[in-house]
Amino acid sequence: MSKFLRVKCACGNEQNIFANASSKVSCLVCGALLAKPSASRVKVTEGTKVLKVL
Ligand SMILES: [Zn+2]
Repeated sequence: MSKFLRVKCACGNEQNIFANASSKVSCLVCGALLAKPSASRVKVTEGTKVLKVL
């Protein structure tokens, strides 16, 4: 059930985030906001790319 998204931050860092995260997710390298919770699934912020769904 749990899905992860592989995202790429504007700084070039790639990391996995929980698709159903209930809190904000920040980049581990630069600290930029990568995604924030929304109704069903997290919404990635502008500048963040979703590479794939794991
Ligand atoms: Zn970053």
